[in-house]
Amino acid sequence: MCIGALPTLSELAKWRTDMDKSCAMCGNPEETTRHIMVECPFAQQLWALSNIAWRWISPWHGGAAEWCLFVLQKLDRDSRQRFCMLAWKIWQHRCGKLMEGKEQN
Ligand SMILES: [Zn+2]
Repeated sequence: MCIGALPTLSELAKWRTDMDKSCAMCGNPEETTRHIMVECPFAQQLWALSNIAWRWISPWHGGAAEWCLFVLQKLDRDSRQRFCMLAWKIWQHRCGKLMEGKEQN
């Protein structure tokens, strides 16, 4: 994510213009890294359950790398681990739903 390499549907649609780039989780017209991690209601629900302060998660500064750095600088060690784990789980869940039709609790 931090090097801009997540194959989001918006990124893939740059190569395949006929591709549907709407969010698999909520139907938002464009699935970007920012949307997946911060704007999507699915991600917002998970962040709310994480006990990581939303005030550190919600502002998006520049690209994904800047966002990650900002958040990681604001969190203590335990919260940084939870942040990384949850970002990974959000991406993993999205991929499972999009590619395999899986829904996880
Ligand atoms: Zn969404």
